[in-house]
Amino acid sequence: MGVTLLTHTPEPEKIIACAAKICYSPSNAEDLLEGLTDEKAKIFIRKLKAMSHETPFEMADFVFGIDGMSKACSQHFSRHRISSQNQKSQRYVDERDFDFYTPDVIKNNKDALEIYNYVISQNNNAYHLILTSLRADESLPIENRDKIALENARYVLPNACDTSLILKMNARELFHFFKLRCCNRALTETRLIADEMLRLVSEKFPVIFEGSGAPCINGSCPEGKMGCGHPRK
Ligand SMILES: Cc1cc2nc3c(=O)[nH]c(=O)nc-3n(C[C@H](O)[C@H](O)[C@H](O)COP(=O)(O)OP(=O)(O)OC[C@H]3O[C@@H](n4cnc5c(N)ncnc54)[C@H](O)[C@@H]3O)c2cc1C
Repeated sequence: MGVTLLTHTPEPEKIIACAAKICYSPSNAEDLLEGLTDEKAKIFIRKLKAMSHETPFEMADFVFGIDGMSKACSQHFSRHRISSQNQKSQRYVDERDFDFYTPDVIKNNKDALEIYNYVISQNNNAYHLILTSLRADESLPIENRDKIALENARYVLPNACDTSLILKMNARELFHFFKLRCCNRALTETRLIADEMLRLVSEKFPVIFEGSGAPCINGSCPEGKMGCGHPRK
């Protein structure tokens, strides 16, 4: 699994602070932005967070590249509607001899791992065979036969199949995403990716992402009886 912070809104602290200040200031937007130093912007951001005034945080976008994640995990990302995403398509990319994700609990169990690897190799064989048959099927239109073959053979590919994603979220959505997906109740693979995303943005923009993560890091768990009982630090 590889997570990269590909790009982000330049000087995100300043545009967040500027967006908030426009609510209360007679100045125009450009003057407000020019008048902001890094230090002033950071102080203002802390105030906004303390007041839970969150809309200005929508002004700052962060774009991540995520490689080597499973299809199962990518489905969790696609549930986050306040994001923009593009994912490797199995309708266009030939997945013969695909890479795949193996969860640690399976890696650590010899019997489970043997079955896992066997089923993956069977899936791969079935994919090869179906793809070859469809590519040779003269009843399919020659001009898009290859695409038809790929998009139909893909049905036998497993949830474990590797995929790649480019994901954009604004800071406000990231706060929400980290609350849900850095929680121990999230799928482990999803949590590891969310933790890495949080580490990357916190390293560059510690003031914006101060206090972000699973709710338990701030002392409360909304999960009730479903809680894991192991608050994160
Ligand atoms: C531990 C865990 C277990 C889960 N289990 C399941 C499961 O078993 N089955 C399942 O289907 N899903 C499951 N999910 C996914 C979950 O239901 C959400 O789809 C996912 O977490 C995205 O959350 P969201 O809708 O709050 O976020 P986003 O889509 O990122 O939206 C962010 C926020 O915007 C607002 N918003 C967005 N769209 C609308 C809208 N149309 N109307 C009103 N407000 C909106 C809401 O305030 C929302 O919280 C699980 C998630 C977690 C973290």
